[in-house]
Amino acid sequence: MKSGVQNPDVIVVGAGTAGLSAAQSLRAAGLETLVVEAAGHAGGRCFTDTSTFSVPFDRGGSWLHSAAINPLARLAEAQGVPLHKADWNSTRVQVKGHDLTAQEVADYGAYGDAMWEAINRRGGQEPDVSSYAALPDGKWADTASRWIAQMVGGDADVTSARDSYNYANAQGDWLVAGGLGAFVQRLHRDVPVELNCPVEKIDYSGPRVRVTTTRGVIEAKHLILTVSTGVLAAERIVFVPPLPSAKQTAVGGLPNGLLNKIGIEFDPAWQEATEGDAADYHVGDAEFCTLHFGFFGTSLAVGFVAGRFAAALEEEGAGAATDFCLQGLRATYGSDALKYVRRTDETAWQTNDLTVGSYSFARPGQTDARRVLAEPIADRLFFAGEATMTDTYSTVHGAYLSGQRSAEQVIAAMQKQAIPATQPET
Ligand SMILES: Cc1cc2nc3c(=O)[nH]c(=O)nc-3n(C[C@H](O)[C@H](O)[C@H](O)COP(=O)(O)OP(=O)(O)OC[C@H]3O[C@@H](n4cnc5c(N)ncnc54)[C@H](O)[C@@H]3O)c2cc1C
Repeated sequence: MKSGVQNPDVIVVGAGTAGLSAAQSLRAAGLETLVVEAAGHAGGRCFTDTSTFSVPFDRGGSWLHSAAINPLARLAEAQGVPLHKADWNSTRVQVKGHDLTAQEVADYGAYGDAMWEAINRRGGQEPDVSSYAALPDGKWADTASRWIAQMVGGDADVTSARDSYNYANAQGDWLVAGGLGAFVQRLHRDVPVELNCPVEKIDYSGPRVRVTTTRGVIEAKHLILTVSTGVLAAERIVFVPPLPSAKQTAVGGLPNGLLNKIGIEFDPAWQEATEGDAADYHVGDAEFCTLHFGFFGTSLAVGFVAGRFAAALEEEGAGAATDFCLQGLRATYGSDALKYVRRTDETAWQTNDLTVGSYSFARPGQTDARRVLAEPIADRLFFAGEATMTDTYSTVHGAYLSGQRSAEQVIAAMQKQAIPATQPET
């Protein structure tokens, strides 16, 4: 291995936010740590692309959600990183060819607020139900509820109301200058990562964990696994022995949902007219995208598609999601808008073998799966990653906190092993 660490104390699988954060805590505690990452770069689902557009494009996570209680927001503030704190203003909504009037846009927005309140209220009661079952009646139920997939990655009928209730929501969704992925990388710049090193097998049958990578076998007493539930469900890694059935059931209860982003770079003249605008475009009952203009005061707009519709577009092939968003742009702003488009690109997180989806959601009745997934096995295998967090799942700060938690668990296990099981009698 290039990093020179041959017999680390701890192996961390995955250099996304959780893996980087775990490794940083372990190294701070003086532990030899080897991070192995399958991709050619660190960051995972929080990665800033600086080569496609003339401005940075976060292909995955970009917002510091719940900024008031987000530890990464505190770090960004402490470092004086410029932050964009303003909300977008939803100005244009088109539903099945009809441009909503200002009053209708306000009613549609008000239904959205009432919808989240109802889901969270219902999620606090027994038994858990789907978000769909918790929807309040109203004219806008079928359209505004499409936002659920944009937020939680799964459509309303398959996602848990309890999961939304459990989520620690607080004021503020902030953007970071230069991109969130780049910021997270800077925070962890001292963590060495073994790139292009996919893990194929994890054998935890003996006292040491043996990890087979495409570049050889490595061993350590402890391993922190940070791959997504999509990767686990697709069985991209072989476990010896197989993961306990409770763990496998937990993975099944927490599918990796789907949100794809479509970057649209405009001529700066367009940006001046639309910065801070957002538009919603509904075609049929499920075909829906949102468009956010002027990311961080740049000429980049980002379109979003989610859930089953996003999966269908991804399956259709490269360019399908972009075409849909451009159709939405034309429908909401007129065909002149297309003249200002300079460049486009789209993500495809579902067909990405290293993520197999965007972020986890809990199926109805399955929220406890997050706790089960997080449980260590035999003080050897430890589990981090956004899906292992009960109240900050599906976020970058959740991934960050999960890495710190797993590092603390490893350190506690090491201390326990260092103490003799029985104290000699005096
Ligand atoms: C489109 C999109 C938008 C999002 N928007 C936001 C947002 O605005 N705000 C927010 O807070 N969150 C957002 N998220 C969610 C957030 O990005 C994720 O929750 C977070 O980045 C997950 O980090 P992680 O470390 O848990 O997992 P990952 O980032 O997936 O890290 C796991 C790592 O393991 C690697 N890996 C996989 N298989 C192997 C293997 N076999 N061997 C070795 N390495 C392997 C992967 O390449 C990856 O680098 C978004 C995500 C997406 C996709």
